[in-house]
Order: sequence, then C-alpha cells, then structure tokens
Amino acid sequence: MIESICDYSKCTGCKACQQICPKGCISMEKDALDSLKPAIGSGCIECKKCVGVCPNNNSILFRKIIKCFAAWSSDNSIRLSSASGGVATAIYRYCIQNDIFTAGCRIDGDGRCYYIPIETGDDIIACQNSKYVFSDTNDIYIRYKKELNAGRKAIFIGLPCQVAGLLTYLGRDYDNLTTVDIICHGVAPTEYLRQHIVEVSGNASKIFFRDPAYRTSKYHFTLYSQYNTIQYNKSVYDNDTYQVGYHKSLIYRENCYSCNYARPERISDITISDFSGFGRLKPANMGSENINCVLISSSKGEDLLNLLFGTIDIIERPVEEAIKFENQLNFPSVPHIRRQAFTSNYESYHNFERAVRYAISQQLNNYHIKRILHVNEIQSWLYIFMARLIPRQIRHLIKRHIGK
Ligand SMILES: Cc1cc2nc3c(=O)[nH]c(=O)nc-3n(C[C@H](O)[C@H](O)[C@H](O)COP(=O)(O)OP(=O)(O)OC[C@H]3O[C@@H](n4cnc5c(N)ncnc54)[C@H](O)[C@@H]3O)c2cc1C
Repeated sequence: MIESICDYSKCTGCKACQQICPKGCISMEKDALDSLKPAIGSGCIECKKCVGVCPNNNSILFRKIIKCFAAWSSDNSIRLSSASGGVATAIYRYCIQNDIFTAGCRIDGDGRCYYIPIETGDDIIACQNSKYVFSDTNDIYIRYKKELNAGRKAIFIGLPCQVAGLLTYLGRDYDNLTTVDIICHGVAPTEYLRQHIVEVSGNASKIFFRDPAYRTSKYHFTLYSQYNTIQYNKSVYDNDTYQVGYHKSLIYRENCYSCNYARPERISDITISDFSGFGRLKPANMGSENINCVLISSSKGEDLLNLLFGTIDIIERPVEEAIKFENQLNFPSVPHIRRQAFTSNYESYHNFERAVRYAISQQLNNYHIKRILHVNEIQSWLYIFMARLIPRQIRHLIKRHIGK
C-alpha cells in the first residue's frame, strides 16, 4: 500500500486522487484540525495514479494575464443577488442555453458545500453567491472527463486549486474545455461551519455569507429557517465567531496559507473576483459595488468573454489595477497572529466556538464596542489612507512580521 500521496500540509482537498483511483480505495478523512485529507484504504494496488494526478506533485502551467475588465450582469436582479457582478451566473446561463456542460457549488443548511452539475435555472440559483467554506468536488472531475471525451463543450468554474485538480485529473489539453477560477483567500473546514450553525441557531435550511437582502457588499451572514424566516443575522463587522475567524484569516485550512495559486499568473483561461481596486488607478464613473474583475489569460478566455456580449456590461481596465489592490493576486493569506492559539486549542477540544474565543476574545469584544462607536468606518478610511502611503510590498512585510 502507498504510504502517502503528497505532502499533506499542502493538500487542498481537491479529491483528484480519490476520483482517479481505479479501486475506489481512497476516502477523505478528517485530520487533527478537521480538514479533509485523503486516506488510502485496503485494496490499493500501488498503481500510483493518485500520486501522479495530485497537483502538488506536478508542475503547474501558469499564464500571464493579458487583459483586465470590470464587468457586471446587464440583468440588475442577477447582479444584485451575486457576490460581485454576476458574471458567474451569466456564464451558467450561457451554458444552459448552448448545451455546454458546467458545474457549481451549492450549500446545504448543515454547512456542507459541494459541486453539482448545472442543468436548470434552479441549479444556477443554488450555486449563486460566495460560500466561505470548503467545497467538496464530489465526483465532478469524472463527469467532466466523460462529457469532454464525448465531444461536449464544457466550462469549469471553481477555486484555483480545484481547477488545478481538474487539469491534472484530465491529464491533457481539451480544446472543448474553458476554465474559470475564482480568486480565493482561503476556505475553512466544513466542521467549523457545522458547529457554528448548531451553536447560533440549532439548524438552518438556507445560508448566506453575503445575503443579497442586505446588499452583498455588506457581507451579512444569515441563516434562514425552512419557513424562510431569518433565524440568525450578523454582519461581518459584528462579533460572529465564524465571520471574524474567516475574514481575519484565523480559521482556514492549513494549505491556504501557502497557496500556490495566490499569484499574478493564473491557472485558468479567465479569473473572476470582486474588484477592490476599481477606479483606484484610473478614474471610473461608478463605484466598485457589485462589479466583477475579469482577468483574461488566454484566447479561449477572450472568446468566452465575447460570447457573453449582450448579457454583461464590460469596461477594459489596466491589468495593474487588479494586481495592485488584490492581495490574492500577490501572496497567500497571512495567518492571524493568534492562529497557533486557535489550532492548539481546537486540536485539544474540537470545539470551534471555544477555540475562536480562546484565540481572539479581545478582538471579538472590540468588534462590539467598535460597532457602537462607528469605529470601523473611521478605521477603514485610515486604512485606505495608509494603503496609499505605504507600498504594498512593505505592508506585506509588516503583516508577515506582526500578523494581521
Ligand atoms: C471561498 C471564496 C473566497 C473568495 N475570496 C475572494 C478574495 O479574496 N478576493 C476577491 O476579490 N474575490 C474573492 N472571492 C470571489 C468573489 O466573492 C465572487 O465569488 C466572485 O467574484 C464571483 O462573483 P460573481 O458575482 O460572478 O458570482 P457569484 O454568484 O457571487 O458566485 C458564484 C460562483 O462562485 C462559486 N462558489 C461559491 N462558493 C464556492 C466555494 N466555496 N467553492 C467553490 N466555488 C464556489 C459558485 O459555484 C459559482 O461558480 C471569493 C470567493 C469564494 C467562494
């Protein structure tokens, strides 16, 4: 039996190894921090396909960004219910209309987030909006290979590490495949979200991390009951342990802190994200709310953008405007200064709330006080002011030394 597939501290949980195993003997098991990692069970014939398919054991082809656009859905209802501008939904709609195979991530009330093929309008709605948690690729790579080999066109939208998993799983270029990666600052293990839902609300039937009912740019974390009533609602500036832990870079999978894909060169034909730098390098006549940044890295990517013409509005922007203001296009997330405290406590008790409170109780209390005093608004203005004075590389060095 093979002892290990890759350096597990770098495992992203993409499941390419599990999906390629001809004997079906790889399962995903929780590690000490409850992140899912592959485990080889009995029946292994040592074919080493799992080792060969793992993106961590392969050299990845990265492409230079050739163009940058600000883009948003021309349909205002799509735009306002998406995390950014609704470009992902525009792509899904195009796929359904043109019989192109595609897939996305939905989330259940217990916090499980997983890929499904997108075949109907309801599937699109289920996959809309950001889910700030680990997503399970299920057997989606197997399905892509089958559809591509049958000659069907396919578009994959997913996190960069999942695109990497798909590409190594496929093992060769397919002219009929276009890939789209979503810029990502990290994902937290499903178990943390599951425990958090139980703690704050008992159960839920619908979850939003950026609830459109409060404007997606305000990052409202809401849990809805089966009767569609709100059971729990906290904004990112509030003292919700999951939200603070997530957005302050405390609770990601360990591999996210050394992410190989957080760089200006891209793995996909297109990259989509929020556009935090919009208008900061070159004047723009609107704000950045509900606007996607769309980065093109290949002619396939450019072709796809052209095909969306009529369903999205686009404006070309300098590539530097994207790179300069988006951390994940430069470096992986920097762990919170109390990350070690969080992980050691979690390893001992496997209690998410307890571990976050142990690590950052002061910060959680401060959130409450700050909200009352409107300190966040003042702080964000100060941050923007400082960001314009101190070059990015130096800010990054400061963060690395003193933590977040
Ligand atoms: C975990 C995560 C971290 C992110 N971090 C950043 C960041 O640091 N900076 C930034 O600019 N943008 C980030 N984004 C991207 C941004 O929030 C939007 O998702 C992106 O701009 C697409 O927006 P949209 O309006 O086109 O589509 P939306 O409708 O908002 O997004 C839907 C798409 O996201 C996919 N998706 C949602 N959750 C997941 C998930 N957990 N795993 C895989 N796919 C998922 C869906 O399958 C679908 O393809 C992040 C997104 C996610 C999911």
